Amino acid sequence: MAEVETYKGDAYCVKCKEKRDFEGTVKISDSGRRMAQGICPVCGTKVNRILGKKPE
Ligand SMILES: [Zn+2]
Repeated sequence: MAEVETYKGDAYCVKCKEKRDFEGTVKISDSGRRMAQGICPVCGTKVNRILGKKPE
């Protein structure tokens, strides 16, 4: 079983049209880009945040 990397930060919610703090999991996209996926704590919509390069 793969280890799941978690992410805590903010992402733009398209439904709220605001940035929301969320906790989610980090996924690697097909192009190798890291992105965090989570749920908006206010409206429950999925939010994504592109993380780009791996942080030091
Ligand atoms: Zn929202």
